[in-house]
Amino acid sequence: MVVKEGTDLDSIAYFGGKFVPLKDAQINIMTHAFQYGTGVFEGIRGYWNEEEKQMYIFRLREHYVRLANSCKIIRLELDKSADELCNITVELMKRNKPVCDMYIRPNVYKAGINVGPSLLNKNGSNPTGLSICTMPMGEYLDLEKGLHVSVSSWTRLEDNALPPRGKIQGSYVNTALAKTDAILSGFDDTIVLSSDGQVSEGSAMNIFIVRDGKLITTPVTSNILEGVTRSTIIDLAKSEFDVETEVRPIDRSELYICDEVFFCGTGAQVSPTTMIDHRPVGTGAIGAISKKLQELYFNVVRGRNHRYKSWCTPVFTG
Ligand code: PMP
Repeated sequence: MVVKEGTDLDSIAYFGGKFVPLKDAQINIMTHAFQYGTGVFEGIRGYWNEEEKQMYIFRLREHYVRLANSCKIIRLELDKSADELCNITVELMKRNKPVCDMYIRPNVYKAGINVGPSLLNKNGSNPTGLSICTMPMGEYLDLEKGLHVSVSSWTRLEDNALPPRGKIQGSYVNTALAKTDAILSGFDDTIVLSSDGQVSEGSAMNIFIVRDGKLITTPVTSNILEGVTRSTIIDLAKSEFDVETEVRPIDRSELYICDEVFFCGTGAQVSPTTMIDHRPVGTGAIGAISKKLQELYFNVVRGRNHRYKSWCTPVFTG
């Protein structure tokens, strides 16, 4: 599918409790979140199903449950439930009349326009803002060729510094540094280690390796975002292929000797990696388990696998 990507200022956004043209969804330059990165966000995909002329939003509610958790971490007072946010998102998507794969970007942020980093909302001085917008989105990474990636010299943030478990706006400067330097060095993306030297995750995605037919992924204590796709892959591998996932720390050198590696995430989907730090992964070709999981994943997200239809929220009804 050819997707014409980009932000359309005439599309509809949800902002200030209303549906408004994106061009009118503006914030003041003194906004706390703009000054200090004190917001949280989500990235959600909607998949266009051409046969059914339907848009399916993948694991919408799970993303909003995680958003609520991110809010708790940085004391954002979200006054909408996950179900209310799901309904707003479906209505927003409908208003934008999608006919291709889409991306949904909700933000909850400190909307006060006062100086000072405190997260407290004293006398209503630092209220919570909510915005949601949608845009067409194709592939974030090349899914066919096998990625060539580095191990980053940038270290993943620690839970006790800026918790990666929360999808916090300011912490994505760490992601931006790692990803940008990887690209400038000629890699497609990068793997980030924690300060103890163990693997955390990809720049903005989780990581799986395969050894002896078994999947291994890093635990939630390895400074990762608790990925919706990560948990989807663990479930699918078990129920469809009877492949267990071992959840345990991964050493850097294990990346060099394992049989397969792939990234997963809402943006990354399932992205096989065939070269790490100039060393071929396994045979250097995309591995069989990565390929099988990738094919299954794309059927599931597009609403083509009835066993997992409950993960796919239809936008158009009746
Ligand atoms: N880690 C990071 C740092 C991310 O930004 C993302 C993308 N949201 C992921 C992992 C993957 O999470 P998910 O599968 O929920 O998109």
